[in-house]
Amino acid sequence: MKPTSPRVARRLAQKGSKSAALTVADLANRVAKAKVKGVDKALEERGKRILTSYLQTAATYAMPVKEVVGEMASGQAAWRLGHAVRDEILKTPPEAVKNAACVQGCAFCCILSGGEGGVITGFEAEQLHTAITPLKGQPDGRDWHPEACPALDPATRSCRAYDARPMICRSFLSTDAGACERNAAGAEEQGAGLLGSHLDYLVVHALCRQALKGITQVYTYSMASTAADAVAGTDGISTARHAPSALERACRDAAQAAKA
Ligand code: SF4
Ligand code: SF4
Repeated sequence: MKPTSPRVARRLAQKGSKSAALTVADLANRVAKAKVKGVDKALEERGKRILTSYLQTAATYAMPVKEVVGEMASGQAAWRLGHAVRDEILKTPPEAVKNAACVQGCAFCCILSGGEGGVITGFEAEQLHTAITPLKGQPDGRDWHPEACPALDPATRSCRAYDARPMICRSFLSTDAGACERNAAGAEEQGAGLLGSHLDYLVVHALCRQALKGITQVYTYSMASTAADAVAGTDGISTARHAPSALERACRDAAQAAKA
């Protein structure tokens, strides 16, 4: 075994004692001090309340801090919390949900129009990649439309990773399928949007990143690249990883869209 230099050993010991000392209460303090660029104070505070309730539950059930850090870093925490908010919204569906034109086989929203299909967390990227990898080599969404998501079935236009589809796909809806079709061809018509829970999910994940600074990295991924890599047979999700600015940009864009 390669001998460890005294300097490296000292650094590892310091690191070890630091992580050993970390508690869920410390994480809550870090969340309280965290800031998210591009969103207003009210949204940031709302995200902090949501994330703090998760940490309180973790403390109540004596969840090991290592697991809590892992869930925050992977995006599993944001996923769970985003879902909880989404379920709450859907208990009393707003008009946009009641009048949604979304049906199976209507997939103009799966045409990603040169984009990346949205920011997804590591947890979602792993799920999506795992679900699509066995479909390697089969016709995919791009056989229907060149810019469609590779997870789409070109014959039925249904999602082939339905149970593993990311939050963005679960949050997007429209009251006008015709407008979606025209938007996929370059128009900018109204009618489509994201459930408010999506913004909470993004803000919570951005807060996790800030709160875990110096402890561990919190990445985001491109949905389109993750799906394309999976059907191409690429191992793992690292090639679909984003620069840190992508999450900030997604938060800012979603906050602006929510105001419009
Ligand atoms: S968002 Fe638009 S394209 Fe997607 S399912 Fe709903 S109506 Fe169809
Ligand atoms: S993951 Fe599924 S629902 Fe989401 S864009 Fe791709 S095909 Fe559509």
